[in-house]
Amino acid sequence: MNIILLGPPGAGKGTQARILEEERGMKQLSTGDMLRAARTSGTEMGQKVAAIMDAGELVTDEIVIGLIREQIQIGSEGGFIFDGFPRTLPQADALGDLLHETGQNLDAVIEMRVNDDALVERITARSTCGTCGEVYNDITKPIPEDGKCTTCGGTEFKRRADDNADSLKTRLMEYYKKTSPLIGYYYAKGQLTFVNGLGEIDTVKGDIAAALDG
Ligand code: AMP
Repeated sequence: MNIILLGPPGAGKGTQARILEEERGMKQLSTGDMLRAARTSGTEMGQKVAAIMDAGELVTDEIVIGLIREQIQIGSEGGFIFDGFPRTLPQADALGDLLHETGQNLDAVIEMRVNDDALVERITARSTCGTCGEVYNDITKPIPEDGKCTTCGGTEFKRRADDNADSLKTRLMEYYKKTSPLIGYYYAKGQLTFVNGLGEIDTVKGDIAAALDG
């Protein structure tokens, strides 16, 4: 099964993608994570995108489509969860073509709906485990008192450079200008379903399961 999690920054796509990965053997493809990894390892592409990402703007379609193409060609037995991709109409078209060329289908697009006030609150409270990427939130899911990640025991936690109010404003604007048209695009294709992204993690997880399993 191949699915897209669609929604603004902070909607909970990464958190739900990790749950789906664990519980259904699917593979999370987060272009944001891939780009951050390219930055950390200091590749030419990583250096090129660093300033764009920190400003909260979108990197070129060509770069992210290249990253996704590579992964689709490698394949995943349990299918893919596309997290943060596609973010533009050309990316959505390219994904359709790539899946088609490899004899695969897109099974569902899940829009995670949240209101903008909640996003600001969530994002400015967000941190991740430096070892495994588990997502924490100062209010809803604080780092355990013993300072150890619940998933991997890691003890280093970091905040993303673009998780600040300024960059978030640009990221939201990019979302509404370039990504939100995908809601109509997938609706017209009969592939869109939505869940309320504002609930507890387990509630959202249940709603996604209901959407996928019918
Ligand atoms: P994310 O982790 O999904 O919030 O992505 C972090 C940043 O990476 C975004 O603000 C963009 O600068 C860049 N990025 C991630 N995915 C894409 C994409 N599909 N298209 C363009 N830029 C992306």
